[in-house]
Amino acid sequence: MKPLVDCVRSGVLRGAVAMVGCNNPKVRPDYAHIELMKKLIKHDIILVLSGCSAQAAAKAGLMDKEAKSLCGEGLKRVCELVDIPPVLHMGSCVDISRMMILASDIAKDSGWNISQIPLVGCAPEWMSEKAVSIGNYVVATGIDTYLGVDPYTKGSTEVTELLQGETGTKKWVEANFTVELDIEKLGDKMIQAIEDKRKALGI
Ligand code: SF4
Repeated sequence: MKPLVDCVRSGVLRGAVAMVGCNNPKVRPDYAHIELMKKLIKHDIILVLSGCSAQAAAKAGLMDKEAKSLCGEGLKRVCELVDIPPVLHMGSCVDISRMMILASDIAKDSGWNISQIPLVGCAPEWMSEKAVSIGNYVVATGIDTYLGVDPYTKGSTEVTELLQGETGTKKWVEANFTVELDIEKLGDKMIQAIEDKRKALGI
């Protein structure tokens, strides 16, 4: 992981987003996935994907090496040097465990806690119970996770606070959920979160 950590530390890469999840009838199919991916790679944020999010990226050509033309200068350079596309496939949605192992390896090689890594999770069009489990796993690992569709928890202020506030999972595992239905704003919030984590690390 050391070359990757060096790229993040130096700022050539600003960070990473682990994007996962379904299509949801409340969102035009693939729209949120693709628009967010384009926005993030333009900001030198590398993407690792699984499940239907990865299918969306592949269909849109974002897993082709030519997609480097959509990247910021830093990520474009990394793609050229390593000969990879800016959006990487890590398997089916339940293969999220692979991403968590990757995050653990980055933590070991960087000396940062997982919650400190400039990395966030995202499920912009989540739909199924399986995606709920996956999202909870990511948060429980210490990675802030961004949702583009409301979780069915608004009926309880206590559960909403537990999942999205500062006194629930944030206090226990240093991560929580952020819900933002406006996809443009969702992307801005993830970029800001990554920059905030960089600032906290002094990089
Ligand atoms: S839970 Fe189903 S719909 Fe959602 S990402 Fe996984 S395979 Fe796709």
